[in-house]
Amino acid sequence: MIIRSYFFSREAYEDSIDYVTKKKSTIAKMRNFLNLCLFFSSGFLVFGWSPNPPVSNSARSLAATSLESSGGPEEKSGNTQTVCIIGGGFGGLFCALSLSSLGKEEKEKPKIVLIDKRERFVFLPLLYELCVGDATIEEVAPTYSDLLEGTGIEFIQADVCDIDKQKQVVYSASGEEEICKYDSVILATGNEASFFGVPGAEKFAQAFYTIEDCYELRKKLSYFDARDSDFEKPLEVVVVGAGYSGVELALNIGERLCKSDDMHVNTYLVHRGNEILPSASDFNRQSSEAELVKKGVQLLTGTSVNEVQSTEAEERKKVILRKNDGSIEAIECDLLLWTTGNKPSDIIKRANFVTDKNGRIVTGKSLAVKGEKNVFAIGELIYYTCFTFRWE
Ligand SMILES: Cc1cc2nc3c(=O)[nH]c(=O)nc-3n(C[C@H](O)[C@H](O)[C@H](O)COP(=O)(O)OP(=O)(O)OC[C@H]3O[C@@H](n4cnc5c(N)ncnc54)[C@H](O)[C@@H]3O)c2cc1C
Repeated sequence: MIIRSYFFSREAYEDSIDYVTKKKSTIAKMRNFLNLCLFFSSGFLVFGWSPNPPVSNSARSLAATSLESSGGPEEKSGNTQTVCIIGGGFGGLFCALSLSSLGKEEKEKPKIVLIDKRERFVFLPLLYELCVGDATIEEVAPTYSDLLEGTGIEFIQADVCDIDKQKQVVYSASGEEEICKYDSVILATGNEASFFGVPGAEKFAQAFYTIEDCYELRKKLSYFDARDSDFEKPLEVVVVGAGYSGVELALNIGERLCKSDDMHVNTYLVHRGNEILPSASDFNRQSSEAELVKKGVQLLTGTSVNEVQSTEAEERKKVILRKNDGSIEAIECDLLLWTTGNKPSDIIKRANFVTDKNGRIVTGKSLAVKGEKNVFAIGELIYYTCFTFRWE
């Protein structure tokens, strides 16, 4: 919980805690809360986490630009434009809400279609609270149908597999079923966990990115809680990646597990770089480091995971670590949490957009995708350049 205050402003943080503790779970409040947090987290995205432009500001201007790109409402009066948004995370949802609030006249409004493969929007900064039972699923992950009620935004639950740029059609996972015909499309599918091809990592490590990951971790924590109290060995927890999620998990997991009587926990935080929180300010980095030391988390910086193996002891894993000086060491652990390494969703590759070396889609100033007229992108899946390209 401590690290949260670095993410949002203190006011936003306290509001969010207030929201959760008082369990004001009406959808209207969820929307306000979401907007508030997006506002503050966008500041965070500028200064810290992401090199991309702030999500909320981007979403607002992108909403307007995407509308213009398809001729604008006036030019095509009587023929409603369809703006299709793929991915209802922070970028996609906020973009849809911004777009729905543009244009005073009802007839000026485009048809907005939001597609997500999941039924629920997930407020990721509260995923940890859901995991430890400090928040409920409705508070952290309201359904899109509840959240979008009365906004005029059409929600379709589908796993998008392909986009035909010529025909301007979005297809579902089967690659055959047509989900939506569009005039403009906005890509907002975010990132997914990546294990960098480290042998054994995908099989033995637990990611922390989705509701499913959250419930899986919750199950594991309950399993440790139920462990025989005569068990003498301390629980060994290894967290890989000292970005914000990794630091937060390392700080909180040990504390959560120690709630069980007499449980002793050793937590290790493994990080490839020489400094934790590479994109944070010095103040945030130093405060986090001090907190980690205070909580007894052992920091292994300049260290990468080479391989993860099973061990003879059931449920345990052996994590082979390689220091930057080339030396190798191993830790046996009960829980291996993986928070590093994200890759943009596969749809980007399949639809053949221009990407950078990390597979992120390249956009210019207006978030138009390089080389495309009516395709835009927002959020973590983009590599943003501040230049205005010729087509913008
Ligand atoms: C545990 C955790 C805590 C975090 N805490 C903070 C924080 O405190 N502050 C902060 O600023 N950032 C935080 N972040 C990062 C922040 O959540 C991301 O930067 C943000 O979610 C990125 O927004 P996005 O719209 O690009 O992608 P996402 O929010 O990930 O949304 C992508 C959406 O696309 C959908 N999707 C993907 N592929 C498809 C497909 N093929 N078809 C249909 N739908 C698809 C997904 O279901 C998802 O809903 C946290 C992240 C995590 C994992």
